[in-house]
Order: sequence, then structure tokens, then C-alpha cells
Amino acid sequence: MNADEEGVTVIPNQNYFPDRNGQKPLYVILHGTAGGTSAEAIANFFATTENTNNPVSSHYVIGQDGKVVQCVPESGGAWANGIFSAGHEPFWNTSINPNNSTISIEHCKPSSDNSDPLTSAQQAASFQLIQHICQRWKIPMRTADASGGITGHFSIDPVSRSRCPGNYPWDQLWSYLKGGGSMLQLTDPSVQPFFSDGGNGAWKCKNGVVLLGANLTFYRTYGGPGLLGLPLSNEIYPPQHPNTAIVPCERAIIIYDPNRSVDNPPISGPCYLLHIDSGLGQQLLAQSTNTALQTYINKLNQINTLSKLS
Ligand SMILES: [Zn+2]
Repeated sequence: MNADEEGVTVIPNQNYFPDRNGQKPLYVILHGTAGGTSAEAIANFFATTENTNNPVSSHYVIGQDGKVVQCVPESGGAWANGIFSAGHEPFWNTSINPNNSTISIEHCKPSSDNSDPLTSAQQAASFQLIQHICQRWKIPMRTADASGGITGHFSIDPVSRSRCPGNYPWDQLWSYLKGGGSMLQLTDPSVQPFFSDGGNGAWKCKNGVVLLGANLTFYRTYGGPGLLGLPLSNEIYPPQHPNTAIVPCERAIIIYDPNRSVDNPPISGPCYLLHIDSGLGQQLLAQSTNTALQTYINKLNQINTLSKLS
């Protein structure tokens, strides 16, 4: 079997419908393994279920280390999705076997309830693979509806698979796909000198600041260190604006404000840049009320003073 995706390892099995019964893949279905960490181990397990009472497979498995293994050709329908259960999302055409209209991706998750967040490496591999599959098959890069798209196993079988894939960074996936998959990676030359893997999908800056969640997605989507500069403090939570989080960077101030309680600029997604000429951004700059930021600025001033002395 040849790989459909560049750079992946192939560990094949025969647990699939070779011709999809005339269907084309219209959907990408995300799963969690509810046990295990290694893609090779899961793929080897799939192969052992051939000719048993419960043969299973998926097209791809992504390990916690970000390694991707392909088990079934995309032209075939992997046996990953079982059958529709009561309460499945209404857009599904239940006269078509859901394995024939889908491409399935398993994510290795050690916990039995799939509550583990993806690792940074796993998330990067998952987002990129989803994008490539959608490009290959012209699958809409959005949440699934009657005309196709991306969703989880829960959409097909909410009775026994409500926690499949479990914890998954859906908002970040949509941001990534909207940005044409151009989100910065830790391995990019503009990023590598400044950031390392902070665990649980976070990035740790060399100055100790940790970027995470939606603010990190925004940072990675809109220029990163090159345009925004380095983050100057961990997230600041202004008490007068609940459910917001501010990250001042060297060249701009990012705010997570999904309810648009501070400002309402015409940009999609939960984050945007604060005005620096008025309001909260101006206050932050003028007063530097945040101690973390103030400490950092003091440090910078000290360094500046020292460099003038030398
Ligand atoms: Zn599943």
C-alpha cells in the first residue's frame, strides 16, 4: 500500500471497504484511542483484529509524539465509525454506511475518557493532516453539515462514542484552516530561537512567558515573533472584564475577548489587537498597572541603563 500523505509510516491492514461502495469521502472524522500513546502500537493492534469478530481500523493514527501512521488507503472506507446511533446529528444520510463517506483519524490518548489534550506535536500533525486530506478530496474545511466537512465520532454515535475524540482544540483547528494552514510552527526559523514546547500545546518563550490557547493560536496565525515581537508577560486577567485575557507583546497587545466586551473589531475569532491610543490598551501602556509587565519593563530599563554605562 502506498501512503496518500507524504512522510507518514505505513502499517496496513485489510479492515476496510476497498471501493467505498461507490461513495467519495465527504467527511473527516476525528477519534481518540482512549488508551495508548504510540501510533505504531495502535496500527499494529488494528492489524491483529483482521478476521476476528471485531475487525477495526482507521485511515490514520497520530501518536503523542506527533508521528503519523497510515493503515488504510484513503480510496477505501476504514472500519472506524460503527453505525449511526440514536441522536446522531441530523444532517447524516443514514442510507450510506458512514465508513464509506469518511476518512478517519485516530489520536493516541492514554486516558480512557479521551480527556487528554493533544500534545503540541500531535496538534500540529493533526491540523496539517486534516488540511491535506480536505485539499485532496475537496472536503469543506469547516464543521460538518449535509454537504461535508469535519467532525468527531460523537456526531455519528453519540450513544457510545460521545467522548470520541474527547478533548480536541476545535477553535484552534478552525483558525488554522481559515488561515490556510499558515500557522507558525516551533520548527520555523523565525520561532525556533525564541520558543520551546511548553507542554499541553503551550509555547514557552525564552523569557519564561508561557503562551497558550486562543492567544497562542492568534500569535501563531498573525505573525508571531516577527510581527508581534515576543510576549512580555503571561496572560493578564483584567477584573473589570471577566472572560478576557491579555498578552502584551513587544510590538502589540493581544486580547482574548470572545464576547467582545472590550472592543468589537471586524476580525473573526476570539482574539484581536487592543487599541493602544485609547481604552484598556492605552491604560496598560500608560500606567503599566500589571506587576508582571512592570517588572519586565523595570528589567528592560535596568538592562538599558547598564548598556549605556558600559
Ligand atoms: Zn471513535
